[in-house]
Amino acid sequence: MKEALNEDGTGELFFEREKGILIVISGPSCAGKGSVCKIISQNNPDIRLSISETTRQPRNSEKHGRDYFYISQECFKTRIQEGQYLEYATVYENFYGTPKDYVEDLLNSGFDVILEIDIQGAAKVRSNYKEGIYIFIVPPSMQELKRRIEERGTESKEQMEMRLNCAYYEMKNADDYSYIVINDELEDAAHRVQCIITAEKCRTERLKNKIEDILGR
Ligand code: 5GP
Repeated sequence: MKEALNEDGTGELFFEREKGILIVISGPSCAGKGSVCKIISQNNPDIRLSISETTRQPRNSEKHGRDYFYISQECFKTRIQEGQYLEYATVYENFYGTPKDYVEDLLNSGFDVILEIDIQGAAKVRSNYKEGIYIFIVPPSMQELKRRIEERGTESKEQMEMRLNCAYYEMKNADDYSYIVINDELEDAAHRVQCIITAEKCRTERLKNKIEDILGR
């Protein structure tokens, strides 16, 4: 709690909005990260989804500015030089990056921000945001993952194979994350992610300053 002075010099007490928390969600292609993140952000007005920039071509149903900002390789490389990314990585032969100012502005305004990024990007973010929440979403089986990738059908056969092969490698990195959520049923998985976020927000190290406020000192 802080005290601010009014124009007439009298004091006023107000609760300062805490800096937001970074929530990093990774997992293999088609594990259901995007759907889980959508449910979480729809149910929590204080949680915002970061929108990445990519050099990948949009899929049929995707929209510039909603799913990604689709930019050229040249533009992406210029933005790397300018230091515009919080992290970036080459994933499945395309560049993907998290816009730094956008995410930091949201965090500084008190919003929690979800980054749905790959394991390389998460490793970079982890070194700067140790207090973030790191969640890995996995499919119930590799057969189910293959079925989901084929059912989505938005990639060529070679790209589907590449995504499936990468999934084996990505799954081996799951223990770098604090939580693993098995996405067998979407609503259940989203509920478990919600519970993790809620519990994390109650951690003593995040709330211990509030005790003094409550005591009124
Ligand atoms: P997709 O092409 O299926 O949308 O995404 C491919 C992979 O790139 C997914 O694992 C997704 O989480 C990851 N990805 C999306 N945006 C970013 C980003 O900004 N940075 C990194 N490192 N990975 C990202």
